[in-house]
Amino acid sequence: MTAPLPVTLADIRAAAERIAGRVRRTPMLADPRLPGVWLKQDYRQETGAFKLRGATNALLSLPPERLVRGVVTASTGNHGRALAHAARAAGVRAVVCLSHLVPANKVQAVRDLGAEVRITGQSQDEAMDEVARAVAGEGLTEVPPFDHPAVVAGQGTLGLEILDDLPAPAAVLVPLSGGGLAAGVATAVKALSPATRVIGVSMERGAAMAASLAAGRPVEVQEQATLADSLGGGIGLHNSVTFDMCRALLDDVVLVSEDEIAAAMRHIHAVTGDAVEGAAAVGHAALLSGRIAPVAGTVCLLSGANVAPATFARILEGQAA
Ligand SMILES: *Cc1c(COP(=O)(O)O)cnc(C)c1O
Repeated sequence: MTAPLPVTLADIRAAAERIAGRVRRTPMLADPRLPGVWLKQDYRQETGAFKLRGATNALLSLPPERLVRGVVTASTGNHGRALAHAARAAGVRAVVCLSHLVPANKVQAVRDLGAEVRITGQSQDEAMDEVARAVAGEGLTEVPPFDHPAVVAGQGTLGLEILDDLPAPAAVLVPLSGGGLAAGVATAVKALSPATRVIGVSMERGAAMAASLAAGRPVEVQEQATLADSLGGGIGLHNSVTFDMCRALLDDVVLVSEDEIAAAMRHIHAVTGDAVEGAAAVGHAALLSGRIAPVAGTVCLLSGANVAPATFARILEGQAA
C-alpha cells in the first residue's frame, strides 16, 4: 500500500470555490494550424501567469490570526507577483525578501504590486534566510511557490476548467518545474478522465523534476540560462508534496531544446497574436518538433506571458535562442 497523495479532487473543487471571482476563468482556443490541438490561455491571468491560482488559494486558506500578520516569500518571478497581488486584493501584508543582486527594475515591480521589499545578502539563499527569520521572529507565514498542498490545489483548478471545455482530452501537456502545476492538473484530470495522458514538459537545460524522477529521489541540477526561465530552479531536496505526486500521476516527462522553444513561441504568436514566455511554449515545442505526436484532443497549457519585450522581439526575428 502506498500512502494517499496529499491533494485530492475534493481539495481542488474547494479551491475553485475559494478563488472564484478573484482569478480569471481563461479561454481555450483551437489551434488553427495544428488540427485537434487546443491552447488553454492561462497566461491571460491578471499577473500574466497561472500562479495567481495557487497563491490566492493558499492565502485564503490561512486562518484569520495568520492573515493579520501577513505572508512572505523570496520569489521575484511569477509566484512573487501572484502572492503580492493576492495579498493586496485580500488586504493582507506581503513581504518579499530579495538579495542585493536583484536588479532595481525587478525590485520596483514588486513594490508596484504593493508588497514590502526587504533586501538582504548577496544570494537567493540569504534571501531565504531572511524569510526564515520573518517566519520565526514576526509570525509571517511563508507561501512557497509549489511544494504546498494549498498551492497545488489552486493550480489544479486549471484541470477542472480544461475538462469543462473538453471533457475527455487525449492528452494534456503541462509545463513542469517544481511540479505544483503538473501535480494539481494531473490530480483533477486523472480523477475525472482517467484515460487522459498527462505529460510534463521541461527544457533540456536544467530540468530538476525530470532528473529527480529519473533518480527516484529529489536531486539538484546545475541551473542554466534558458528561454524557459520560469522553469528553472530546483524542486527542493526536502520536497514533501510535488515529487511524490508527479511520480504517481504523470504518464511521461519530455524535454525540449532552446530552438524548439523559440519556434513554439513564434507559432503561438502567429496563432494568438500574443507574446508568451518560453515556459508557456514547451508543450507546443514538443508537438512541433515531433517529440510528442499531436493526436486529436491534445491540450497545451500556456502558463505565462512575462517575457521581456526585447527577448521576445529577438525571437520573433528568428535569431537563435
Ligand atoms: C512556475 C511556472 C511554471 C511551472 O510551475 P511549477 O508548479 O513550478 O511546475 C510554468 N510556467 C510558468 C510561466 C511559471 O511561472
